[in-house]
Amino acid sequence: MKFVSYKVGGKETYGVEKDGRLFDLAGVHDLPQDLLRGIEVGGDFLKSVESVLKNKVCEIRSFTEDEVKWLSPIPKVKRNIMCVGKNYRDHAIEMGGEQDIPTDIMIFTKATNTIIGHEETVFHHEDITEELDYEGELAVIIGKKGRRISPEEAMEYVFGYSILNDITARDLQKKHGQFFIGKSLDTTCPMGPYIVTKDEVEDPHNLSITTKVNGEIRQSSNTDQMIFSIPTIISILSKGMTLEPGDIIATGTPSGVGKGYKPPRFLRKGDKVEIEIEGVGILTNPLQA
Ligand code: MG
Repeated sequence: MKFVSYKVGGKETYGVEKDGRLFDLAGVHDLPQDLLRGIEVGGDFLKSVESVLKNKVCEIRSFTEDEVKWLSPIPKVKRNIMCVGKNYRDHAIEMGGEQDIPTDIMIFTKATNTIIGHEETVFHHEDITEELDYEGELAVIIGKKGRRISPEEAMEYVFGYSILNDITARDLQKKHGQFFIGKSLDTTCPMGPYIVTKDEVEDPHNLSITTKVNGEIRQSSNTDQMIFSIPTIISILSKGMTLEPGDIIATGTPSGVGKGYKPPRFLRKGDKVEIEIEGVGILTNPLQA
């Protein structure tokens, strides 16, 4: 299923996208009022939603309705977004060289204020950065609470997948030593359009991933190029830290980020960034003009 959150008539709601239509779930009796709570409920929630879709006992809308505005599938995240750095060999090399290929997993986070949805506008923050950059990534959404999760059982803890743009102010990332400020400017974590449940993604480690800026391909790779796989990432993160339903893990970006070009090609006012991941969708966001 493809879960979406959106606003209609100024009100936040959520639902499932199916055959180009929106099955609205927030108003359905006995279903949670938002997607995060649904993820927390787990398997029973999915069964209830399947039954609602089958019997069409919900409001059904069209995306083309003017008043429908996309939100991030989880509009208000509880915790920082966890991000794997340099998880594609060719990206590690473009950022520094062979010596930058990590031997241990590299993790940083983006603050909760960064999350926006499909088609929402990214601020350019031109007064504080001249080096705003894109990073197309596959995001994993955790579906079950767990600690000390083994690689063998890790996929049981996954709810689904989404697309995430880990937008980064390169100058601030470098200036402040720690990545936190450069990764946490408002609106710099577009995510969506959907969370696709894991049953619909046959192999998350074999998906084409493409980023375009104003229609021009900048990143083109496959998730089979990840250095650390999703089970490895979940296992290492959860060794001493409890993972919670709704946690978001960005799995890293392939080569072709703006900083990797000579000369660099950072984002400019009015640019349009599109990230496509096979079977997961296309995430589109304009930069503030
Ligand atoms: Mg990244």
